[in-house]
Amino acid sequence: MSKIIITAPGTPLRRSIDHILGSLCPQPAGKRIWVKPNMLGPFEPAQGVTTSPEVLEAVVDALLNRRASVVVGDNPGVPGNQEGIAAITGILNASKGCWRNIGADASKIRLAGRWSDVTINISSIWLQADMIINLPCLKTHALTLMTGAIKNMFGGVPGRTKSYLHTLAPSAKSFAELLVEIYSIRPPEITIMDALNVMEGNGPSGGRLRPLGVIIGGDNSVSVDAVGSMIMGCRPEKIPLLREAYRRELGEIDPGKLDVEGEIPLLPRFKMPSTTMASIASRFNPLAAIYAVVPQIIKDKCIRCGLCARTCRSRAIIEKEALYFIDYNRCISCYCCAEVCPRQAIRLPSARDDLFQRIFHLFAKRFRDES
Ligand code: SF4
Ligand code: SF4
Repeated sequence: MSKIIITAPGTPLRRSIDHILGSLCPQPAGKRIWVKPNMLGPFEPAQGVTTSPEVLEAVVDALLNRRASVVVGDNPGVPGNQEGIAAITGILNASKGCWRNIGADASKIRLAGRWSDVTINISSIWLQADMIINLPCLKTHALTLMTGAIKNMFGGVPGRTKSYLHTLAPSAKSFAELLVEIYSIRPPEITIMDALNVMEGNGPSGGRLRPLGVIIGGDNSVSVDAVGSMIMGCRPEKIPLLREAYRRELGEIDPGKLDVEGEIPLLPRFKMPSTTMASIASRFNPLAAIYAVVPQIIKDKCIRCGLCARTCRSRAIIEKEALYFIDYNRCISCYCCAEVCPRQAIRLPSARDDLFQRIFHLFAKRFRDES
């Protein structure tokens, strides 16, 4: 039975981390441990997009005190200088000299199942570490509805391979299956989820933070995510990632079948992403195209950094006279652009908001394809 530890709000952070590590990782001495935070992009710690430096620092200190050999690293979702992003997020300082550019040393691996003809690079530390400690933060996600422990392991894939994988699995349903496939390469031994603040709305970078003050530890990432979804007010089986992970017997998602220490807190009136309808509709082919959400660039907020265009593997973001535009015919609604935008300048309308516009584009596209 998977073990879950939920610390009470207000518990001093270092005491929470010591308790979780003492229960789940009693003998780390001499082990090479990969600590995997969420380092999505160049976001300041106060934005709550990446793992809190305080949580990371407490984990690193506790492991070093127990004489473990620690490597901290992640591959951000945006191309560019990893060390610079680690500095901005506070992850570099919090790593206490253990931070490494894990994107610089990659190994090839062949995926399985329906992607058995796909070979990708993953950071070698994923295969080489004696133990992995997964350090996600709990947030909504415009495409997968939630991002936590399972999705955090996608960061083991370096650089632009991530956006390439989006093109292989463009729908929310297929992307969830692909994420679980990647997670299954080697699931982490321990998960320590940062739920000090939980992001609602259009996560993983454009939502609003809800204070919670909780850390969730567990020996199975799938079960930790199941608890995370309950906190968001969502039944675990409603989250495509969790449904798929459960189907593949990678972890229990029924909280009644977990060994839970502590109370599962609930965030009342929690807001899921505006794209939730599109995500649900992606399971049903005829509806998927109608409900697909196409992002919109808010010109007044855009600082013309070009990060979205460099991230979009479908080449759907075009620069014209120093302004950026989205080509609706190329967009596959992966929302990677919104995810990396440092100014929340990419709006994801709800499926209802722009229904007329979407139907218009759908018919226009069909007409163009046929003519
Ligand atoms: S939309 Fe965002 S990521 Fe794209 S150029 Fe503007 S500020 Fe940069
Ligand atoms: S424009 Fe944005 S949502 Fe559309 S394909 Fe590019 S990155 Fe994905």
